[in-house]
Amino acid sequence: MTRPALILHGGAGARRERNYDREVVHMREVVEAMKLRLDAGASALDVAMEAVVLLEDSGLYVAGRGASPNLAGAYELDASIMDGATRKAGAVAALQGFKSPVTAARAVMDRTPHVMLAGEGAALFALDQGLEPIADEAAWFTQAGKGEDNHPPGTLSHGTVGCCVLDSQGRLAAATSTAGVFGKMPGRVGDTPIPAAGTWADEGAAVSCTGQGEYFIRVAAAAQVAWRVRAGQSLAEATRAVIDEIGGLDGDGQDGKPRGGDGGLIALDAHGHIAAPFNSQGMKRAWLTTAGEMGVEVFGT
Ligand code: ASP
Repeated sequence: MTRPALILHGGAGARRERNYDREVVHMREVVEAMKLRLDAGASALDVAMEAVVLLEDSGLYVAGRGASPNLAGAYELDASIMDGATRKAGAVAALQGFKSPVTAARAVMDRTPHVMLAGEGAALFALDQGLEPIADEAAWFTQAGKGEDNHPPGTLSHGTVGCCVLDSQGRLAAATSTAGVFGKMPGRVGDTPIPAAGTWADEGAAVSCTGQGEYFIRVAAAAQVAWRVRAGQSLAEATRAVIDEIGGLDGDGQDGKPRGGDGGLIALDAHGHIAAPFNSQGMKRAWLTTAGEMGVEVFGT
C-alpha cells in the first residue's frame, strides 16, 4: 500500500493586487473531499478528474464555469487527462457548449480509440455521450477570470486548473482544464489538451502545467519533467529546470531582448514528493502530502 498524495492548482495567473481568500477556502475544500476519496481507495485517475470537475464548476478559476471568451466572444475550452499506470490519455480542444471539458476528455480516453477530439467533432461526441450541455451561456459562465487574473492586453494572460494524484496502489494520474489565454484567437489551442505539453502522467511522475501555453508546448514541459525524473533528477530539480527553460526561451528580458514565458506547474512523483515551481507572480495551489498534511498557497513558494 502506498500513502496517497495530491496537488492541485487554480492557475499561475495570480496577481498580487488581488485577494484570493475564496479560492484558498475552495481549494482546501477540494483537497479535503479528495482525501476522503483517496482514503476510500479511489483511483488516481478518478480523483484527478473529480478534483478538476470541482474546480471547473466553481466559477472561481479561468476554466469551466469561470472561463473567459476568445476574441470572437466564443467560449472554446481545452482539457486533458492521463493515467500513468496505463499511459492512456484523453483530450478535447476548442470544445464549445459543455459544462465539464475534463469529463469530455475522460470520455475520449475511455470510449474512443483516439486521444484528442477538437472543435465540432468534440462537441458532437460530447452530445452523443450524454455529457451535460450548457443551456444558456450568458447565465452559465461567471467570467470570474475576466479582468481579474489579467495582464495587459497582448501579453497572453492566463488561468487554468489542474490536479496530480498518487493513489494507494501507487498509481499516478494528472488532469488539466482551461479556457486558455485571454484575448486568444478563435481556434487557438494551448498546451492544456496536449499530452506531454500541459499534462503528463507515467509510472514515475504526474504533471499539470499552467501559464503561457505556447511556451510550454515548445519545451514539452510536462513530459520533460517526467523524463528528467526517469533520468535520475529529483522532482524539485526536474521541475525547476523546466520552468527556467520556459522563462529563458526567448531571452532573459535584458538589453531589450524579449522575455520568455511565464507560468508554473505542479508535479508529484511515485514516492509522493510534491513540487510546484512558478516564475509568475503567484500560482494558486493546494496539496495533500503522504503524511496526511494539507496546505494551500498562492504567492509564497
Ligand atoms: N496554459 C493555458 C493555455 O495556454 C493557460 C493557463 O494555464 O493559464 O491555454
